[in-house]
Amino acid sequence: MDVQEKIEKLRKEIEYNSYLYYVLDEPKLEDYEYDALFHELEALEREYPQYINANSPTQRVGGVSEKFNQVEHKNRLYSLDNSNNEEELRKWYERVLKEASLENSGQISLFSNQIKNIPLAVELKIDGLAIALTYKKGVFVQGLTRGDGVIGEDITNNLKTIKAIPLKLFEPVDIEVRGEVYMSISSFEKLNEKQTKMNAKTFANPRNAAAGTVRQLDPKITAQRELSIFIYNAVQTGDFKSHSETMEYLKKLGFKVNRVQIANGIDEAIKLIEELKETRKTLDYATDGVVIKVDSLNLQNELGFTSRVPKWATAYKFPPEAVWTNLNNISVQIGRTGMAVPVADLEPVNLAGSVVSRASLYNFDEIKRLDIEINDKVLVKKAAEIIPKVIKSEKSDKSTPFIMPENCPYCGEKLIDVEGEVAKYCPNNKNCPAQIRGRLEYFVSKYAMDMDGFGESIIEQLVNLKKVINYSDFYYLTVEDFLELDLVKEKSANNLYNAVQNSKTQELSKFLNAIGIRLVGRESADILAKSFKNIDEIINAKFEDINSIEGIGEKMAKNIYEYFKNEENLSILKRAMDAGLRLENSYTINENLKLKGQSFVITGTLVNYSRDEAQSILKSLGAKTPSSVSKNTTFVIAGSNPGSKIDKARELNIPILSEEDFIKIIN
Ligand code: NAD
Repeated sequence: MDVQEKIEKLRKEIEYNSYLYYVLDEPKLEDYEYDALFHELEALEREYPQYINANSPTQRVGGVSEKFNQVEHKNRLYSLDNSNNEEELRKWYERVLKEASLENSGQISLFSNQIKNIPLAVELKIDGLAIALTYKKGVFVQGLTRGDGVIGEDITNNLKTIKAIPLKLFEPVDIEVRGEVYMSISSFEKLNEKQTKMNAKTFANPRNAAAGTVRQLDPKITAQRELSIFIYNAVQTGDFKSHSETMEYLKKLGFKVNRVQIANGIDEAIKLIEELKETRKTLDYATDGVVIKVDSLNLQNELGFTSRVPKWATAYKFPPEAVWTNLNNISVQIGRTGMAVPVADLEPVNLAGSVVSRASLYNFDEIKRLDIEINDKVLVKKAAEIIPKVIKSEKSDKSTPFIMPENCPYCGEKLIDVEGEVAKYCPNNKNCPAQIRGRLEYFVSKYAMDMDGFGESIIEQLVNLKKVINYSDFYYLTVEDFLELDLVKEKSANNLYNAVQNSKTQELSKFLNAIGIRLVGRESADILAKSFKNIDEIINAKFEDINSIEGIGEKMAKNIYEYFKNEENLSILKRAMDAGLRLENSYTINENLKLKGQSFVITGTLVNYSRDEAQSILKSLGAKTPSSVSKNTTFVIAGSNPGSKIDKARELNIPILSEEDFIKIIN
């Protein structure tokens, strides 16, 4: 193949993948694979400039679909140059220093030794979809996608459903701003779960979910899925000297603005990138890099744009957190609810700093979708935020199809389908050892009865020796029973015994979570505990009593009601109570306490308390401590590296407290 053919082939491949990505929101390639093709084309065009033409993807931005009205942008939107190494960043910075006549910028003197350190604005690169918002006299009038940079899609009605986009600004100005619409990681996971349950299309990542959602024809669907936005730029208003000043102004106008840090020169910028690599792991939204912008607007104007990107900015892309390895086998795990989950047994491989040997394959449909076979080569990904999963496969000569077993690998019972669910289930919840183990592991876990020291191996031994079959058996174990277990000496036997004893006065809400009523998790268990004085009231509640509780849906209410009508469940509970289980309900014990009726949400890391400790203290004073911010939240307590909850709090005007405020309140 000659060079020209090679260039044409690359262009076709890039265009096809751009179409899948920008128009259909269904990419087939990973971003770094696409970037590699793009960089290869750029390098060839640099070497053979005679083959460059205006239609090459290197000269253009994105793509536009015909689903929406197409509107010409008043001011063009651009993409960003990107690299994933320090050397390229330094080269970009040298070009900036060379091309800008710095002495004219009014900021830096040619003779000063400061010349190598111009101020750079450093921001996280949000992985979402670029949009432009126009305000007239402070009122939001139009929102367009970036499209191909010249023409965008009019998605005004959809954007109006995003709460973080102000419909009216605090000042009646005419302004155009640019930002990134994104979906939080937790909303993305919730959405995919829901889509899977409804047998609907799932999204590859939060970016595609956001792009697909904001470009829905029906704004009602956009409104249902939680989107947000960070504003990162304004079309220059002429009033400001720097990008960072403009951003401060946008904040004052009421926009939710991306955080800007100023670095003095490229060395400091690179240091900030290292810090941001850690920060991003604590955030509930996906980021794919760091954007570095020349802060001075004069310099930005001088440097200008290429046909595709600004010369005054560049993006450092985070290295891919995905590796290829061999899929040695697929085993089927049965969880505590009986759900059969296929798991990939991998050739151990180092992925983003830790060794990975297993990854979830979710369900049989997912295996079919990704065309995964045993002995394939598979690409395993661990986005900093998300658990490892197989995202792609390639055949080897030894590849053999995986056949989903018809029977439970642990108890032999035939696996069954459950209406409305993709997964298969083992129906033998009474005797299947995998389900028994799963339930008991969950019962002792931190957010359940919190029995310290009970790892998987202890539970496995207790089950194999038939010392524990249901949770009530824990309360009849003696120190001698623990001493019979492998590797358990006197000290740990005593510790295990004491952990069981201490759990006898555990919170009612934790117990309600621990017993594994189908669909009841931590939050619903909390709601249930708040709604009844004690366990007896729950046992005697009518279905209507449970069904009328806000936050408990009908299906869940039915499960709760049936759980406590089941003779066997009641006899297990009675047996545990006979051995001294006394559940406390701090929600009712605390009726006269000083924080009663107040609701605190904690975000970020506190210095003096773990999150659990802080929540327990607040609860002991009568407060509620839900995990998410809503209009009913009284205060948000923010530690270091707060997550998206702080944005939500700002959106809803909920007061934000520091750790010191928290300490004052509890004292
Ligand atoms: P980009 O996403 O790499 O960078 C430009 C965009 O960054 C801007 O348009 C803006 O929307 C966004 N951005 C986020 N935070 C920002 C901030 N703080 N300041 C300024 N901008 C910010 O470029 P692109 O042109 O949107 O897309 C190209 C990228 O898309 C490729 O590098 C590739 O990773 C991906 N892509 C992937 C495929 C695929 O098949 N996987 C196909 C096409 C494109």
